[in-house]
Amino acid sequence: MKCVAPEDRRSIQGWAGIDRLLRDMDAAGIDHAVLLGWYWENQATADLQIDWFTHWIRAHPDRLSAFAPIVPSRDGNGLERTRRALDNGFRGIGELLPQIQGFTFKDEAFAALMALAREYRVPTNLHVTDPVAAVRSRFQVPTPLEDFAQLFADFPENVFILAHWGGGLPFHELSRGSDVLFRNVYYDTAASPLAYDPRIFRRVGDIIGSDRILFGTDYPLLTHPRLSKEPGFILDLKDARASGLSESELHHVLGGNARRLLRLP
Ligand SMILES: [Zn+2]
Repeated sequence: MKCVAPEDRRSIQGWAGIDRLLRDMDAAGIDHAVLLGWYWENQATADLQIDWFTHWIRAHPDRLSAFAPIVPSRDGNGLERTRRALDNGFRGIGELLPQIQGFTFKDEAFAALMALAREYRVPTNLHVTDPVAAVRSRFQVPTPLEDFAQLFADFPENVFILAHWGGGLPFHELSRGSDVLFRNVYYDTAASPLAYDPRIFRRVGDIIGSDRILFGTDYPLLTHPRLSKEPGFILDLKDARASGLSESELHHVLGGNARRLLRLP
């Protein structure tokens, strides 16, 4: 509740149902969207979201795909639910945020989830907070970047998508000898306008290339709260197109990479 309906500040959370989502996709010329789960604290809530997503991707298989939310826990309930979701065509797992969901990357439950992800050859999406933002804003949950380096070392065969430009982690791909570590790591651009200067598209593109950057928005979050009080994709797309990436780089970032990685229609 602190996040989506704070009492002490104006919320930037926007809301949308399936009809509005499809309308907003049409308005922005987006043919396919991947729905990401939230980092819920209770598996029962994650199950509810999986149920909605299952209905939506069944009703609109050409327009929508989904990732399954899960609370990795020792009872294994979430794991079975996630397996069923993957059997029903879900394309990935996440978004996860251990610091909120009460687990660590060292837990057995998490290792079991990573084994499932490898079995189904699907990526796992993780929330990452920029370390500077974590200090600047009390609303941001710190997610130490070294945790992710260790995670990649511990699960070298898993594919990870780090949300929000990986909180600045792409810069560390310049670290000598780190190529192998980042082999299966992708970054999404969700909520980029709220977190970073638009130059980040060009800068990260220069460091890691355009093959591992996935355009994301955090829709229906209001990513341009000064410009629009309504959810939508148009402003985020405009930012990406004006970012200085070439046409061929944009082709990768705005869909090509996702289509290949997620085996989308
Ligand atoms: Zn996030």
